[in-house]
Amino acid sequence: MLGDCHIHMVLDGVYYKDAIAAHRAGTRDDIIIPRLEDYARRGITWLRDGGDAFGAGERARALAPDYGITYRTPAFNICLKGRYGAFIGKTFETLADYRALVAEVRAHRGDFIKLMVSGLMDFDRFGVITSEPLTLKQMKELFKIAHGEGFSVMAHANGADTVKHALEAGVDSVEHGAYLDDEAVAMLAQSGAVWVPTLVTIGNLIGCGRFPDDVLKPLLALQMKNVAACARLGGKIALGSDAGAYRVYHGQGTLDEYALLKRALGDDADRVLREGEACIRQRF
Ligand SMILES: [Zn+2]
Repeated sequence: MLGDCHIHMVLDGVYYKDAIAAHRAGTRDDIIIPRLEDYARRGITWLRDGGDAFGAGERARALAPDYGITYRTPAFNICLKGRYGAFIGKTFETLADYRALVAEVRAHRGDFIKLMVSGLMDFDRFGVITSEPLTLKQMKELFKIAHGEGFSVMAHANGADTVKHALEAGVDSVEHGAYLDDEAVAMLAQSGAVWVPTLVTIGNLIGCGRFPDDVLKPLLALQMKNVAACARLGGKIALGSDAGAYRVYHGQGTLDEYALLKRALGDDADRVLREGEACIRQRF
C-alpha cells in the first residue's frame, strides 16, 4: 500500500474545534495511538503530516516507529496573519517573524516547512477561493528563506495564478491545487514539484447535504481531469488525503483518496503514485 502524503493527526474529520480542543491541555496518546495502529493495520506505513500548532503531529512522529510507521511533520504550519490557516498553525507579520518561526521549526526538528499561500475552496460557490493569496514576491521571499535553511516547502495552494506563482517561487509540493487552468497544469508537470490533489476532500462531501452537490461535482470533475492531464504530461502526483479534514477519516481517507486517484489516472495510477511518493519521501 502507498503512504499518505498529507494528513493532520490533530484533526478528526468531524469537527475541527473539538478535535483541536482535545489536545490543547497536552497531546492525547489515547487518540493518536489507535490511529497509528489503524494506519499500520491497513499497510499505510509512511505518513506526512500537514502540521499543527498543538503538538499532535510531533507526538505522532515520536510514537510512529513503535507501529512500524515513518512519520514526517513540519511541526506546525505557517501562515500570514489575517489569512487562512491561523486556526491550526502559527502566524507571522514580518519577514523577521517568519525567520523566527523557521528557526522554531528547526528547534522542533521539523522535517520541512509547511506554508499556507492561499485560502481554501468555498464549497458553496464554484470558482471561489476564500481569503487573499500571497503574492509572487512574498512566496519568493518565504520559500528562499526556507530553502536557505535546508527545508523543502509544502504549500497549501489553490487557484491557477497562486499555483503558478508558487511554482515560479520554487515550491516543492503543491497541496490541493484546485481550479488550475491548462497553463498551470503544464507548469506543474514541467516544474518537478509534486502535486497532492487531495480529491477526497471534495469527493467525500458529495451527498452529505452540507454543501450543494452542483458545486462539488463539477469541482471534483475538474480536479480529476487536471490530475489526468498533469500525469499525461509527465507531472508528479502523490496520494494525500488531508485526513482530518471534514468527512475525511484517518485510515479510511487514504483508501478513499486512492480510489478517486485510480478513477482519474486509470491503469497508470500505481506507477504514477509510486513515483510521486518516492519524490515526496526523498525531499521531505
Ligand atoms: Zn491539510
